[in-house]
Amino acid sequence: MAEKCFACKKNIGFLDSRRSIVGSEHMLCTRCFSKFGPRVNIMQNMVTQENATPLEFMDHYVVAKNSIEEGDFEPDVRDDLLKDLEQLKEKAFSAHPGWMEEVVDGAIQDAEMQDALSDMLITSGFNFDGYTITKYSGYISGDDAITIPRNDFFDSNNVADNLCAAFVKIRRQALKELKEAAYNLGCNAVIGVDFDYVVIEPQHNSALNATVTVYEPYVIAVTANGNAVVIEKDGEEISTHANPLREYKALLDEGVITLEEFIAKKKELL
Ligand SMILES: [Zn+2]
Repeated sequence: MAEKCFACKKNIGFLDSRRSIVGSEHMLCTRCFSKFGPRVNIMQNMVTQENATPLEFMDHYVVAKNSIEEGDFEPDVRDDLLKDLEQLKEKAFSAHPGWMEEVVDGAIQDAEMQDALSDMLITSGFNFDGYTITKYSGYISGDDAITIPRNDFFDSNNVADNLCAAFVKIRRQALKELKEAAYNLGCNAVIGVDFDYVVIEPQHNSALNATVTVYEPYVIAVTANGNAVVIEKDGEEISTHANPLREYKALLDEGVITLEEFIAKKKELL
């Protein structure tokens, strides 16, 4: 009485283990299950784990879902496997009542941070025209590194292009980390930004034969440094409070209106 695999319809052998997505009646052979199984195993464990996080769970869910969608399953098998996966997700979320809120709050916080990061001003100088620094929160840095295999990199015809692309990539990441560090300090700008580069070129003698030189991959690291600050746009307070008297004061200063007229306006307004 051999049981058949739901996906490939082959007999599940004596030594083959029967596997299914948790709660599902669809038994699979090990080979079919292995197409998405590792992620599902992790997800199944996360259902009962207290310290599991919904974002981590959803990362695995997305990969497992893609694996099922792209796997060579019959369309009806694929649909059923996707349903099973959906049920596993529902089970996990009902086992962790706080997860939905955590995902929503996390998304809102992320959006807020992205907003703040895209608005964040950075400069290699020490001030911004039209802004006043109201708080200094200290020295921060962000860094990134990249490993460049010698063969892929230096045997190619595009050494300069590849090098530039590598620098752009790590500099962008270092700047992103720098901005995040400023954001975490409650700051909205970074001043005095500069970059330090380190190229590690581990060309050394072989441990086995001192006359042989060993060439390891190049490692290029970049650190972005700066000072996190809070800046306020000059005149921002005026415009947010929208005190019309300020306008009249400006007119007075310019000699457009007289003091008497100004006082008359003041009485009118207050
Ligand atoms: Zn199978």
